Amino acid sequence: MQRIDRDLPWTCPGTRRQLSLFRFGSGPRKAYIQASLHADELPGMRVAVELKRRLRELESQGRLRGVVELAPVANPIGLGQVLQGVHQGRFEQGSGKNFNRDFFNLADAVVPLVGDRLGTDTAANVALIREAMRAVLHALPPATSELQGLQRLLLEHACDADVVLDLHCDFDAVTHLYALPQQWPQWRSLTARLEAGAVLLTEDSGGYSFDEACSMPWLNLSRRFAEAAIPLACLAATLELGGMADTGPAQAEASAESILAFLAEQGLLDGEWPRVPEVCCEATPFEGVELVYPPHAGVVSFLRPVGARVAVGEPLLEVIDPLDDRHTLVRASVDGVLYVRERTRFAQPGRWLAKVAGRHPIRHGRLLSD
Ligand SMILES: [Zn+2]
Repeated sequence: MQRIDRDLPWTCPGTRRQLSLFRFGSGPRKAYIQASLHADELPGMRVAVELKRRLRELESQGRLRGVVELAPVANPIGLGQVLQGVHQGRFEQGSGKNFNRDFFNLADAVVPLVGDRLGTDTAANVALIREAMRAVLHALPPATSELQGLQRLLLEHACDADVVLDLHCDFDAVTHLYALPQQWPQWRSLTARLEAGAVLLTEDSGGYSFDEACSMPWLNLSRRFAEAAIPLACLAATLELGGMADTGPAQAEASAESILAFLAEQGLLDGEWPRVPEVCCEATPFEGVELVYPPHAGVVSFLRPVGARVAVGEPLLEVIDPLDDRHTLVRASVDGVLYVRERTRFAQPGRWLAKVAGRHPIRHGRLLSD
């Protein structure tokens, strides 16, 4: 195991912040896993603890068949943001920006470097594009903020990986996954191993989040240079490891083992691993997600647990105004899986309270709710 410490730019005088990565194994294939880019989403960090322990063990047993890079603390900026005792890890306090939006667009940047050098040799094209990605990131002018510097470092370590996992969680949720529709066949086994409750697929969620910054350039380049053999060489997903409170040791160990077994399937680890369970949730379009909003302010009582299958018209929650006694049942408007519930129990204007994964597209444009 090699520890790599990268300095962040623009830290306040008298302070210093680093992104630390742990690198295991060697070889041409590479997996990159990061945790807690939204710094108060800690199940991923807890799983990374298990991954680090197990990868060290597997490395000493000579069972690594490629490189695994692990960033257990992907966001040291957000990890330190505590406001009056409440951890604020989703948005950078100085700028208000979501840590997982607007990553650098590698596809546009590499076009001038690779355009006339691509051919029909798939492996050569992948090597050429990865080299160009690393080159454009190195040639960028200095980052204009600490956040931009952090995002570039994360992308630099992930952009040449075959497999990228960005570990997050939602407020109160079943394990679920966001990925490109084209990559669902490859993610199915991890989904089954994790006993995930939902998979949301889209080509573009509208926010240029980290997983899309890794996977989408290949899709864009393959369309732009249709005559060249360009595969979707980076299998990337955002994996939401349940809800914010889900840091229990048994769950973390199980999630880490599922991820390792999946990495073995991807050719990165040797040895015997449990078989893929047959049961797996279905994948649905991200465009099919209903964001459930309250009709007025009030205290919230949820009526269905996360993971419940719900039908159109079924009550999901109630909102009660304690002063004028207004009481409203909020019902599902699609058939699907109630896969996320809000953490707060007070309904506020413009703030969603639940998410239901439906089968048919009902939303378009920017799909992320921030
Ligand atoms: Zn997140």
